[in-house]
Order: sequence, then structure tokens, then C-alpha cells
Amino acid sequence: MFKNTDIQIITSVKKLLTEKKIKISVIPHENPDGDAIGSAVGVAEILMEFGHQVTIISPTDYPDFLKWFTSGAAILVVTNQKEQAKKAISESDILICVDFNEAKRAGKLEKKILELNKPKILIDHHPYPSDFCDYTISETGYSSTAELVFDVMQAIGLGSFITHKSAEALYTGILTDTGSFSHSTSDPNTFKVVSDLMKFGIEVDKIQSAVYHNFSADRMRLLGYCLNNKMVVFPELRSAMISISKKELEEFNFKTGDTEGFVNYPLSIANIVFSAIFIEREGMIKASFRSKGNFHVNHFSRDHFNGGGHRNAAGGETKTTLEETIEKFTQLLPGYRHQLLETII
Ligand code: 5GP
Ligand code: MN
Repeated sequence: MFKNTDIQIITSVKKLLTEKKIKISVIPHENPDGDAIGSAVGVAEILMEFGHQVTIISPTDYPDFLKWFTSGAAILVVTNQKEQAKKAISESDILICVDFNEAKRAGKLEKKILELNKPKILIDHHPYPSDFCDYTISETGYSSTAELVFDVMQAIGLGSFITHKSAEALYTGILTDTGSFSHSTSDPNTFKVVSDLMKFGIEVDKIQSAVYHNFSADRMRLLGYCLNNKMVVFPELRSAMISISKKELEEFNFKTGDTEGFVNYPLSIANIVFSAIFIEREGMIKASFRSKGNFHVNHFSRDHFNGGGHRNAAGGETKTTLEETIEKFTQLLPGYRHQLLETII
């Protein structure tokens, strides 16, 4: 079932998670997306159903459209509840990291994770995992960490502890990381897992509305503004870029998650294969990259924006100004001309 994970790792994880009832902290990456939160809530619910005491600890806050889950697991946000979060980690018997491939992606929790002298388990689907956990389950062939969580839970004998709540959370992870089943879904296993989740009576139309039809009018106007005023298209390089300053975000009463998905829109333009968005945050610029076909945005981000991710979806950052970041990107693009023109979609 797993391509990269030795059976001994699965056996050890099974032992750790099923031999006795313990305290577990589940950690998604900072600025968690649907897959990070969906996987965290999913795995937490299953482990709680089994009888463990589980806390989810998110390095930063997460969007409102991911707050509708009816989970019994407490979600501590480090930026709001720092002491409680640190205490919960210190008191844990085991850590489970979901949906990230290096400790740095846990932001403010990086040090705490590295220091903790307790078994750490990683469940993730990003390429190039670093060796920061004791038990690494890294399967890059999976559409989402949520799909992988489902299979890992089956493999360690906890499949019977999946409930409606965990099924909803895992489905949300798969839904969001596949762009509503529009990419990363060539593996039949994705639909098999979805089919199994459906048996728990989840209502996909309700989840679709909760996740995608739950925006504020301000967010919709910000999207319109970005597409109309801030999108620059480089047709001869098959690329497009959007940039947003802090001031512009404030004008539209920005809330966490409002810019989620913006970077995908330029890829709807015929013949565009590479899209970038640069968003000014406190003391840094957050970059997101998306591509079609065989143009590797994770390599692009790793080489120039201190980041990484998947072939067609990656992120990174700069510590320079927004203007300097835009300048850097526009200077870099022509160097990728051949690759961009040769990208097959
Ligand atoms: P997003 O653009 O939605 O923030 O992230 C797209 C993908 O890239 C996700 O899989 C995410 O985990 C990864 N990613 C985002 N930002 C970073 C980053 O700064 N470093 C690394 N290594 N990966 C990132
Ligand atoms: Mn993911």
C-alpha cells in the first residue's frame, strides 16, 4: 500500500498508537490549509474515539472556512494561546506532525518540536521530507495528507474508529488539496478513499458550501480588485503574477484565509502555465506558486524563494520589500523561458 514506508515503521506506529491510552499532540503546518486542518482534525478524532487524549496545536490561526468542523478535539492556536500550547506539547507522550516536510514549516513550534524528547510521527505527502521525526510516513504519491491519514489508520488497525466527524474532516482535506478533484487525482486510490468516507454519511454539498461558499463580501471584492488591477500577465512567458500590499489588504478588511486560492485564477487563462502571488505580511513577503504540467514550482521556490512544496503547488518567502520581490520575480522569469514554452499541458 505504501511505496516509501517500511512495514517496520507502520508496525512501530501501530504499537505506539494502540498499546495503551496516552496523551497526543497533533501539529499541522503554519498558516494551515484545508488539508493540514482536515488531516489534523481527522487523525485527532480517530485517536480520541480510540480513547487517547488529543490536542491539536496550530502554529498560527486558520481561516473561518475551516472552523465549521464539529470536532471534540481542542485546537490551540500558538499565536493566541502560547503557554497553553507549549504546556500541551511538553505533556504529550507522542507528537504527530501532519502535512509538512520540515520542522521549519511549523513556524514558532519548530524549536519546541525539535527539542521534545518523545516519539514523533510524521504523516505527509510533500516531496523531500527532512529527517526531523522518529517515524516518517512520507508518501508523495498521495493527493493529500488526509487521504494518507485514512490509509495509515486502516494499516494500524484503527479504521473502525473512523466516525462521521473524522470522515468529514478527511474529506475536506482531500477536497481542498485536489482543488475539488480537479488535480492530483489520477490515482484511483483517492476516489476509493472518498468512496469509503461517503459510507459515514457525509454530505458533500454541505461541505462544498461550508468551504467554498462562505466568504465575506470584502473577500470577493478583494479578489475582483486583484484580478482587475493587480494581475500582470506575461503571455510570451506563459506566466502571470499578482501582488498585494498590506495597505491594500487593510482596505478590504483582510482576514486570515481571504487570499487563499487567488493564485489559482491566472491558470484559468488559456496558455498560462505558471502563476505567482506575492502577499505582504508582517516583516516578510509570502509567495505562492502554481503551475500546470511539468513546470516544477517547488524547485523554482526552493531555488529563489527559500521555499518548497509540490510540483504544481508551492510556497516560499522573501525578507525584502514587495517591490523588490516583484522585481526579482520579473527578472527571473525570462531565464525560465525555454522551460515555460516547453511545458506540456
Ligand atoms: P500555499 O501556496 O497554498 O501556501 O502552499 C502550496 C504548497 O506549498 C503547500 O503544499 C505548502 O505546504 C507548500 N509551502 C507553502 N509555503 C511554503 C514554504 O515557505 N516552504 C515550503 N517548504 N513549502 C511551502
Ligand atoms: Mn497537503
